[in-house]
Amino acid sequence: MLVRLRHGLTSAELDPLLTLCHDLGFGTRFLDDGRRLLELSGEGDQAHWARLEGHPDVVEVIAPGEPYELYARGSDSPDTVVEVGDVSIGGESVGVAAGPCSVEDYERLLRLARGVQSCGVSILRGGAYKPRTSPYSFQGLGVVGLEMLAAVRAETGISIVTEVLDPRDVERVAEVADWIQVGTRSATNFPLLTEVGRMNKPVLLKRGFGATVEEFLLSAEYVLNAGNAQVVLCERGIRSFDSTTRNLLDVGAVAHLAAATHLPVIVDPSHAAGRADLVRPIARAGLAAGADGLLVEVHDDPATAKSDGEQAISIDELRALIQETRELIALDGRTLSLPNETTSASNESAKEPIQ
Ligand code: PEP
Ligand code: MN
Repeated sequence: MLVRLRHGLTSAELDPLLTLCHDLGFGTRFLDDGRRLLELSGEGDQAHWARLEGHPDVVEVIAPGEPYELYARGSDSPDTVVEVGDVSIGGESVGVAAGPCSVEDYERLLRLARGVQSCGVSILRGGAYKPRTSPYSFQGLGVVGLEMLAAVRAETGISIVTEVLDPRDVERVAEVADWIQVGTRSATNFPLLTEVGRMNKPVLLKRGFGATVEEFLLSAEYVLNAGNAQVVLCERGIRSFDSTTRNLLDVGAVAHLAAATHLPVIVDPSHAAGRADLVRPIARAGLAAGADGLLVEVHDDPATAKSDGEQAISIDELRALIQETRELIALDGRTLSLPNETTSASNESAKEPIQ
């Protein structure tokens, strides 16, 4: 039997509870580092459950066979808010990351970083390790790309989200990344999930393109179970029978996840659409379904981009998307977390209505 405890109990609060469990004949063991999930074993009488269910520090008593996963939203679990640099993602706060699909060269990366910053965005995306369908496609700059990301971070102060593909690279990527991305193709790489779960860094976990919602959540569980509570889920579209869009953004899953998990959920409209012209409407759909943020690909010369140029929007379009996001999320009382936005940038964009 498992007992889920209130958040943030002090030792002074925990000790009498553990003593009570022992007095009732149970052995005790915490299943998580956060000391919220307590396993009771041994000869304890089930009739004692009522004593625990009524206890003020107990959220719920979970019967054998019932779900107990750490991603699950318990009756009192508040939204998890993940901080990436100075951006808050989750709860009432919506965060945006933008940048090129791949790190290509230093000058371009710096230009794009300054471009996204000019829209108020303070998280730069960019892959140094690229998971490509064909081994003959551009595979990313690897370590050299990581060095470019680190240099741009140092130069501009922007935070970095970048993908890790190989469990052996996790520490190296974590040195540069403020937010470690696990991509759709790695969503069932369990050793990788466990390894990023050992890091004290936020994780951006994309849904496998063929994963059910439950499988997606269980991928997140690997990270949580390894001790990392800072997980942001990302719906980036699943494979469908129709190639009109590259993938099919599952807005129903976004809405469902808001109820099923306390973890923040963001949307990647770029990989869902596969087409620049659909990125903004798909982003709006995700936000309307309750997404806590956006991950968007931008480029200043999509025709020469080394990957995913066809789905990259311009910096001006990103600016418009930010304004649309602001207006849309205001409808349900949420705000954009754009700590570095200058007043003039926000006033200027505030003049542009949603197209
Ligand atoms: C990416 O973010 O560039 C990427 C490869 O995404 P996904 O894993 O969603 O395909
Ligand atoms: Mn991409």
